[in-house]
Amino acid sequence: MLSEGLREWESPLYAEALGQFDRVAQLMDLDPNISERLRVPQRSIIVTIPYRRDDGTGVKALFGYRVQHVLTMGPTKGGIRYAPDVNLGEVAALAMLMTWKCAIVGIPFGGAKGGVRVDPTKLSRAEIQRVTRRYTAEIIDFIGPDKDIPAPDMGTDEQVMAWIMDTYSQQVGHTEPAVVTGKPPALGGSVARREATGRGLVSLLPVAANQCGIKVEGARVAVQGFGNVGRYAALAASQAGAKVVAISDVSGGLYNATGIDIEAALTHIDKHRTLEGFAGGDAIDNATLLSLDCEVLMPCATGGVLTADNAGDVKARLIMEGANGPTTGEADKILEAKGVLVVPDVLANAGGVTVSYFEWVQDLQNYLWSESEIVGRLREIMSRAYEEVQAVARIHKTDMRTAALIKGIKRVADAKLARGVYP
Ligand code: NAD
Repeated sequence: MLSEGLREWESPLYAEALGQFDRVAQLMDLDPNISERLRVPQRSIIVTIPYRRDDGTGVKALFGYRVQHVLTMGPTKGGIRYAPDVNLGEVAALAMLMTWKCAIVGIPFGGAKGGVRVDPTKLSRAEIQRVTRRYTAEIIDFIGPDKDIPAPDMGTDEQVMAWIMDTYSQQVGHTEPAVVTGKPPALGGSVARREATGRGLVSLLPVAANQCGIKVEGARVAVQGFGNVGRYAALAASQAGAKVVAISDVSGGLYNATGIDIEAALTHIDKHRTLEGFAGGDAIDNATLLSLDCEVLMPCATGGVLTADNAGDVKARLIMEGANGPTTGEADKILEAKGVLVVPDVLANAGGVTVSYFEWVQDLQNYLWSESEIVGRLREIMSRAYEEVQAVARIHKTDMRTAALIKGIKRVADAKLARGVYP
């Protein structure tokens, strides 16, 4: 239960995000005037989205959200999620995480997030298009290249971004690619955005593995989630010489002690949309995947999967969080006591927003960078952020999540202090 004044955003993920923030703010002795402001988002928008069903049963309405957490350092940035359990509190929590993430990698954005409470797998392509266009129209005054720039998240993809960009462009009267990132390359999308989050995550594998005495070559890796993040994390991990022994999605998982053929899994998913029916290993469920005997666990699906109930069963020595908020605060304590190194979401999955930032810069300049330029810069930013977080962890004698948050919150607090209060 959140404190009385914060009922609007009540949700398990918001309570987690706020709990993390309060703990770190206290540790940093953060100015209470600043922490009061950062505990809640600056803007929270709720819209209703009517859309016509294909089957002629009439018009249905959905809830949509866009939350902008901090507007101090430039435009806000964050993905849009389509999922059946999306709510304002979850979106607000994810917006807060985005603020810290951008600050940790030194990108000049505040955090935002959006969502529509809908199961996209139950809608036709035409219905998703109608929902997307109306959602965009409802939030249009609050987004734009210099205001707030959406990107894909769970349940949305390049095509959804293309429809947002088109709707926005039609309304403002000119083509505006910089209003979203994660677009198809034909519309000014970055050639390396699709793989960016998974690639960025795995770019940290050598240094993180080294820190826990694991050799990347042959290291057994389990990846939960085989969407945008999970599939490219699995691919990059196998290309780096690790052995991906387990993968999963919402339909269930697979285990293969000799290593799963990730290319074959990608081909399967392109054809069938889920891993169901893929014959590359033995069937396991998602709960089993989290406690598998392996060196590295990469949760890349949804939030709150590692909890006080199952953290004690984790056998991996290294957890790299591709998903946002996969580990609860209670699970963190258990994992720390077991000596498991957790590379936290706000650092580990920052490759997505980093390449989104490149895409936005490229769109504003009408100049496209090559894949090798993008990947080189991504690696440089990720490894510098990792080193800086490690340095903070050493100084404060703390875990990586706390250190990353100290770094991110400090940067945002400095910006707030420098601007002062208007009027
Ligand atoms: P996606 O929709 O492309 O894929 C999600 C995957 O997780 C799918 O394979 C789905 O089947 C699976 N899944 C969903 N619910 C599950 C469950 N309960 N158990 C097991 N698997 C489940 O989404 P995505 O873009 O890959 O995002 C995944 C996570 O990564 C989210 O937490 C998101 O916020 C985070 N993230 C995404 C990006 C990005 O660039 N897309 C960047 C940073 C963080």
